Amino acid sequence: MKTYNVAAIPGDGIGSEVVDAGVEVLKALAKRDGAFTFHFDHFDWGGEYYKRHGRMMPENGRDLIRNHDAILFGSAGHPEIPDHITLWGLRLAICQPFDQYANVRPTRILPGITSPLRAVKDKELDWVIVRENSEGEYAGVGGRVHQGSPLEAATDVAMFTRAGVERIMRFAFGLARSRPRKLLTVVTKSNAQRHAMVMWDEIAAEVAREFSDVTWDKMLVDAMTMRMVMRPQSLDTIVATNLHADVLSDLAAALAGSLGIAPTANLNPERKFPSMFEPIHGSAFDITGKGIANPVGTFWSAVMMLEHLGENAAAQRLMKAIERVTANPELHTPDLGGSANTRKVTDAVVSAIQAEN
Ligand code: ATP
Ligand code: MG
Repeated sequence: MKTYNVAAIPGDGIGSEVVDAGVEVLKALAKRDGAFTFHFDHFDWGGEYYKRHGRMMPENGRDLIRNHDAILFGSAGHPEIPDHITLWGLRLAICQPFDQYANVRPTRILPGITSPLRAVKDKELDWVIVRENSEGEYAGVGGRVHQGSPLEAATDVAMFTRAGVERIMRFAFGLARSRPRKLLTVVTKSNAQRHAMVMWDEIAAEVAREFSDVTWDKMLVDAMTMRMVMRPQSLDTIVATNLHADVLSDLAAALAGSLGIAPTANLNPERKFPSMFEPIHGSAFDITGKGIANPVGTFWSAVMMLEHLGENAAAQRLMKAIERVTANPELHTPDLGGSANTRKVTDAVVSAIQAEN
């Protein structure tokens, strides 16, 4: 029997609550399937680890997870530690060296969930946002000078490489091709950012020639936010830079009903390194320890992990189980206006897995 080795990194806040739930659901799914099992290694990296060791993960941390089949991640963020330290010390410290350059974020309105866009019916919002995940605005290039003087200045350089843009464009066109509508919107800001964003547009047009069956268009990121709200039906696959897609995907998550539902996959498409799956939301210290975190974003991320591992039947079974649970308002957590808790939702998904054919 095939065993998948998964590195579980719960991180901070509700991260451990939702990752525990995700591990439980994946184990139930493997048991139901009977053709594969999971072995989980747990790593206690994050804010508490930082307080003890002065770093978010051990120096050899990446070596400890390099050979796993996948990584299930919770969240990095701690009220006593600046956000840029937790982000760069853990999440980006894994994503960037493992070349997880394609960040894939599906957005759909699941059964039983109400979008704040009241005019939109569930089938009319079905997007995948592809976020460039290795460079651009988060390249880490820049500096700060003359601190404490009136001359103080700081820069963050958005650095785009031709190779980096080409590979994400190719990935996005390929993903658009695999979806029924074969539709791609390339997000840009090439009116104001006249170097890198112009190159981004040029490369989009070049790669488009390799995908003549994909219909594509370009949108400025500001106009894009309006289109997502006013004409959500007109969009399908979306590709954007690291920063632009970060912003757009929070908007997308909110339009689909709650941040607590939204999943994400940080993919290394070449499979040289493990890929990482995580809910979009952060550590949410306002609800930590209350047992009410919505685990659906983690469960949906687990679906993406199963797809990546090639376990498509199990992925479909888990997605159906999730949808059966969201369809029942009694199983909604408070972020969805309900009064269920993490335990109740997890138990319901496990039962639905056992009930699915
Ligand atoms: P971080 O600093 O790690 O990004 P944050 O608290 O700034 O964390 P989020 O964790 O993304 O940001 O939370 C934003 C809001 O959404 C919070 O009010 C939080 O309680 C709520 N929220 C986020 N995730 C969930 C979830 N899974 N279930 C319920 N509510 C959630
Ligand atoms: Mg946050």
